[in-house]
Amino acid sequence: MKFNQVPRVRLIAFSSLHQANIQDFLEKEADSWNTDATSDAEKLSEFSGRICYQSFGNKQGRKTNKEYLEHILDSAHGSVLEHASFTFLFTGVSRSLTHELVRHRAGFGYSQLSQRYVDESETEFVVPDIIAEDPELFRIFEKAIESAQAAYIHLSKAITEKIDKERPDLTKTDKRKLARQAARSVLPNATETKIVVTANARAWRHFLELRGSEGAEPEIRKLAILVFKNLQHIAPNLFFDFQIAPCPNGGEMLINRFHKV
Ligand SMILES: Cc1cc2nc3c(=O)[nH]c(=O)nc-3n(C[C@H](O)[C@H](O)[C@H](O)COP(=O)(O)OP(=O)(O)OC[C@H]3O[C@@H](n4cnc5c(N)ncnc54)[C@H](O)[C@@H]3O)c2cc1C
Repeated sequence: MKFNQVPRVRLIAFSSLHQANIQDFLEKEADSWNTDATSDAEKLSEFSGRICYQSFGNKQGRKTNKEYLEHILDSAHGSVLEHASFTFLFTGVSRSLTHELVRHRAGFGYSQLSQRYVDESETEFVVPDIIAEDPELFRIFEKAIESAQAAYIHLSKAITEKIDKERPDLTKTDKRKLARQAARSVLPNATETKIVVTANARAWRHFLELRGSEGAEPEIRKLAILVFKNLQHIAPNLFFDFQIAPCPNGGEMLINRFHKV
């Protein structure tokens, strides 16, 4: 059996600007505009904010990109942050985690591994830290997982045989689907899953605030911190007010200055 405790987080895509069209707009309908944004996501957010007031041009005392975005956050003009999006692939996470993750609706899109189509006989399982750290608790956990996995394999085989006899007209894929969708009901919440998640900067900020907080469940809190590290690296000015701090419950948590913009 394979066990895992650390979510695997990969940033796989993010917004990029069509520079030529932005330039075309500035030349024909606005003014010259320079920004010290360090990423297209930050530049897109500033551009979108400036379009509201047609405030381009390079006047003296013009705000830096960070100052501009700080003003957006401070004035809760959050819709400006909806244009830049970031796509992550999460693997090594439990179905309990994704059950919580997919509750985030506004500005999020998901594509998750299907247990109806994909065989779970050799999947890994995510162990909560509190169980992994205690040999006696881990022994109970391992036994339960072993039994659930054995039941899954047994059921998949038995249901496939039954369908083979009763529905020879079905395709191999349909037969497997019927077997796996029923057998999966004995798999535990700890079963590993894979999910692609796209969200805009505003939505990620809300996710980080809720799921990086002290009250969040530890696995999703770990994930939120890894997501934050990626976002901070790629677009620091959009997430500058978040910080990693020690969590009173153990491990780390996120704190932030501008709440739910
Ligand atoms: C520590 C913690 C414990 C939790 N415990 C539970 C629990 O015990 N049981 C449970 O069911 N859930 C629980 N949740 C999940 C929680 O209730 C939310 O479903 C989840 O955090 C997503 O938050 P959200 O709705 O703000 O996010 P999103 O769905 O991304 O929405 C973002 C914001 O958009 C607005 N919005 C979105 N949809 C609507 C709508 N239909 N109508 C009006 N406004 C809308 C709201 O302002 C919302 O805050 C918990 C969450 C946390 C962080």
